[in-house]
This record gives sequence, C-alpha cells and structure tokens, in this order.
Amino acid sequence: MSTLSSVNITILGSASAQPSSTRNHSSLALRLDGDVWLFDCGEATQHQIQRSSVKMGKVQKIFITHTHGDHIFGVLPVLAMRLNGAGGTVDVEDPRAVTAPPKDVPPLEIYGPLGTRAYVRNGLTYTHTLLGMPYVVHELRFPSDPPDGDYTALPPHPMERPGRNVAQVDGVWPEIFKGALATVSAAPILHSIPCVGYVVNELPVPGKVDPQKYIPELKRTKTPMSVMRQLQHGESITLSDGTVLHGPQRKPGRKIVILGDTYDPSPIAGLAEDACLLMHEATNAHLPGIDPATKDADTYETVEERAKSRGHSTPQMAGAFAKKIRARKLVLNHFSARYAGDDDMNEETARVMSRIRELAESTYGGEVVCARDLMSFELGPRKE
Ligand SMILES: [Zn+2]
Ligand SMILES: [Zn+2]
Repeated sequence: MSTLSSVNITILGSASAQPSSTRNHSSLALRLDGDVWLFDCGEATQHQIQRSSVKMGKVQKIFITHTHGDHIFGVLPVLAMRLNGAGGTVDVEDPRAVTAPPKDVPPLEIYGPLGTRAYVRNGLTYTHTLLGMPYVVHELRFPSDPPDGDYTALPPHPMERPGRNVAQVDGVWPEIFKGALATVSAAPILHSIPCVGYVVNELPVPGKVDPQKYIPELKRTKTPMSVMRQLQHGESITLSDGTVLHGPQRKPGRKIVILGDTYDPSPIAGLAEDACLLMHEATNAHLPGIDPATKDADTYETVEERAKSRGHSTPQMAGAFAKKIRARKLVLNHFSARYAGDDDMNEETARVMSRIRELAESTYGGEVVCARDLMSFELGPRKE
C-alpha cells in the first residue's frame, strides 16, 4: 500500500460575511499528492485558484460546510470552469448539449448539507449552463431533514449523477468518503443554520524499519534482501526455516480537521481528537487599544456574547477547542471585514492579527497561525 508523499494546504479565502480587497470569501484547497479537494467555495474562488498554484483541472472533490452564500456562491463558476461548461442556447439545437455521459470520466464529487444539491441543480439549470463532464452531490442529512429526495422539484441537470443522502450514525457521518490513501468523515457543528465540519484521515502509515532486527535473520536463511520492502509495508514474512518476521506496526496518519462557521463545535470533538491541524473560525475579537473601532462599553464578554448570538467564535473560543481536542496546530480563518488580510505588508494590520493570534494562544498553548489569502503550507508527517 502506498502512502501520501505530500499534504499541502492553500488558503483561497479567509473572510467572513463581507469580502474585501485583502480577503476573499471562504475557501481552502487541500492538495493530497496531485489531487485537489476544496473545502467551501465562496464567491470568486475561481479567481483565487487562478491566482494560486492550485490547478483547477486537479479539483476532484468539493466539501461544503453549510449553504450560507459566503461558503457556496462560488461553486457554480468553479463547476462551469472545471467541467468545461458553456452557456446554453434556448430553442435552438445546441451541438454542445451533450447528454450522453462521457466514457471513463468519474463525476466530480460535491458533499454538503441539505440544499447543496438543489442549489447546484437550480443554479446550473436557470443559467442554462452546459457541462462537458458529470458531477454528483452527496448530502449529509441531519435527523430533522427529509431522509430522501432532492429537496427540489427540478429534474436533474443532464450532467448530474445520482447522489447519496447520508444519514447520521451516532450523531456523526462516518467515512462519507473512503479512498486508497485517506478517508473523510463529518459531524455537525453548531451555527445559525445546519453546518458541518470535516475530518480528513490519512490511512495508517508504515512504521520505521530497524534493519538490524531483520538482516541477520535474512542472511542466515539466505532470503533475498528484497523482502525488506514487504517488511517496510508492515507485512509478515515466513522464512525457509519457518521463522516469521513481522514488519513494524503501522502508525496513525495525519488528521486534518476543517470546520465551517460555529459558535460551538463540540459534536465533532470525538472525531477531531489529536488533529495534526485544526482550521477554526475566529470571526470576532475584542481588541481594545488595537482596533480603533472598539466600543468603550465593550468587554471581552460582550464581544463573545455577540459573536455567539450570530453563530460565530472569538479567538479564545477557537483556542479552547484546539486545546480540548489536543490539536497540534491551529489555523484561524473567517475573519470579520474589520481585520484586513495584508498583515505581511501593513504594520497596523500586523498588530491586529498578531493580537488575535495571541488571544487564541492564551487559551490553547500551542502554535497558532492566522490565515491570510493565498497562504500555503505543507503538513509534514505526524510526529509521535
Ligand atoms: Zn461564513
Ligand atoms: Zn455561516
């Protein structure tokens, strides 16, 4: 079994409700070797992909956390671009209107809560968008949602393939996707509307081989050294004299937890434990003496209260959750329009963002990074 050689994360958008010239609406690209998975797809995600080193043609899956516009408005343009879309014509036979499924093209997969399928279908249909390749929408249904159906009276778009409606099991959606190298699970998180967080789990990776443990045995029984490769993959080898050598035990792979908007993500805590990386929103912060817009009457408590009432978190809340699940690294995103994203070149912004980082660190105790658009980083192998 092979393993992932590279896990890269690129922030395509880090703004909350209002985008600005320095922050785009929410989107994140996770690159697992060559494949690209998008998490949320706010307005202008297509432009952000073009401005980054992420390849549009490699986008295989799109995971939507919730159907608020700042997380889904960009999905139709991305689909049109990725699936060779074009505008259709009315009442004239359009030679581009391919309705037969192209052979050997797996559908682009979209996952999201109830309404994701209807939004995509309606949007493509009413804009007369023709696609050259298929897509499918799998919906994560909450117990209060209808268990079946598409949540729209429109028939499927010609390029839509039948999707699953996934019911919860013990309050979560385990392994909604299972690939050769990684799985994805999801769980509800609390927001003003139904919202989910995603957990990407790399499958267990081979442990470290100590050659001294095996070589004398292999020499003694004249076994070809090439079996070291099997041992490296954790397999067992029976030698000519009946001795069995066991490869090292596999170790847990990397775990990446990507949350949508939330004022309390505790329902995902069990799945998210020991994450190598936690992406958590921090929409609002109390920054007296740093943010000139801070009202005199405000205290940390009033800011937290207001953030929660709108379904959001403060940096301290994000830090506390990161500590609770023992995350190795915390990245904050989904910032209010008040906190610009040019902290790499603007001193005032740098002060604001560095204070937001400190506030999260105060309740977490680990490494915190504030997301900036087009920031990109590798996630190395899990350390013991
Ligand atoms: Zn949002
Ligand atoms: Zn929202």
